[in-house]
Amino acid sequence: MYKTKAYSAAGATSPLAFTAIPRREPTERDVQIEILFCGICHSDLHQVRNEWSGIMPTVYPIVPGHEIVGRVTKVGSAVTKYQPGDLAAVGCLVDSDGTCPQCKANLEQLCPNMTFTFNSPDKHLGGVTYGGYSDSIVVDEHFVLRVPSNLHLAGAAPLLCAGITTYSPMRRWGVTKAKKVGVAGLGGLGHMGVKFARAFGAHVVVLTTSPNKKEDALRLGADEVVVSRNADEMRKHAGGFDFILDTISAQHDINAYLNLLAHDGTLTIVGAPEKPMPVSAFSLLMGRRNLSGSLIGGIAETQEMLDFCGKHNITADVEVIPIQKVNEAYERLLKGDVKYRFSIDMASLKSE
Ligand code: NAP
Ligand code: ZN
Repeated sequence: MYKTKAYSAAGATSPLAFTAIPRREPTERDVQIEILFCGICHSDLHQVRNEWSGIMPTVYPIVPGHEIVGRVTKVGSAVTKYQPGDLAAVGCLVDSDGTCPQCKANLEQLCPNMTFTFNSPDKHLGGVTYGGYSDSIVVDEHFVLRVPSNLHLAGAAPLLCAGITTYSPMRRWGVTKAKKVGVAGLGGLGHMGVKFARAFGAHVVVLTTSPNKKEDALRLGADEVVVSRNADEMRKHAGGFDFILDTISAQHDINAYLNLLAHDGTLTIVGAPEKPMPVSAFSLLMGRRNLSGSLIGGIAETQEMLDFCGKHNITADVEVIPIQKVNEAYERLLKGDVKYRFSIDMASLKSE
């Protein structure tokens, strides 16, 4: 075991602050990574503030962060894919049982025994896992990803969660040329959803509560922008969408979005608001519509997504911040004041 620098929160109302946390010495299957950038996902904020207490209560202290890119510093003797000096990335998962049907189908994110990068029981050290707001991390080789060398690292970090979470359901539900696709919520996930839907050749419509994001939405690749609080604008698109990706982080009327689907259309929820949201039966049975959910993606699909991004030169639009600004960044995230992802430059942790 060794100690590494990190930022943690001591409770649901405490700010994140400097600390030192334990990491295991790499075992023979492990890769040790010096973290260079870590994105700030809204899930970090939900969990720091224990907003998912009913589903996965937060164990304090919490070290969030699951959009990690860095450089390999050490590898175990059985590691074959990485060597010191390589660029490497880690997303939301660091372990799974490897034997269940989901693992065998490359769906590690659905494994009943999977380990999230933070706030999951730590099989090696006890306690819970600690995430990427830290100097280094030690991860089983199977859960380490390769970063295409042409991507800028600060913008590549968010691909590890915001990227795969939007790429995976669009692949699953056949977002392709000539499909009309809505992206609800233009935040970290939403702006990646727009980039992917565009790259897949779809007709992309952003559904936003923020009229001031209109120009950005078009620049990011949207064909049209609808202000979702304007009932007239929404009505014009009723029954028109093949697919809608709902990335909204707070309570909202999901029926207003379901009613935009064409018959047999699908709305996939990836946003994870704190409280349940009522669904009218009529929103689904009229038009035989589908309502589904999606959780990040498996390791093979995450690598596929990264390679796709390398080929198409896709990264997140980021505002790079030092870790000392993380609490301010959380407040801004809540106000929708980020274009469109914060990425923490982890070099700033070295001065603490
Ligand atoms: P984010 O950057 O804060 O974006 C959320 C967006 O939702 C905002 O930019 C805003 O877009 C919209 N929004 C916020 N409050 C709203 C309200 N009251 N009504 C309607 N729209 C509202 O967050 P993120 O990092 O993209 O994450 C989004 C959600 O996905 C979070 O709940 C997060 O926990 C979840 N998540 C899920 C997975 C998964 O695997 N399923 C993975 C990662 C994250 P506009 O300004 O455009 O309206
Ligand atoms: Zn995330």
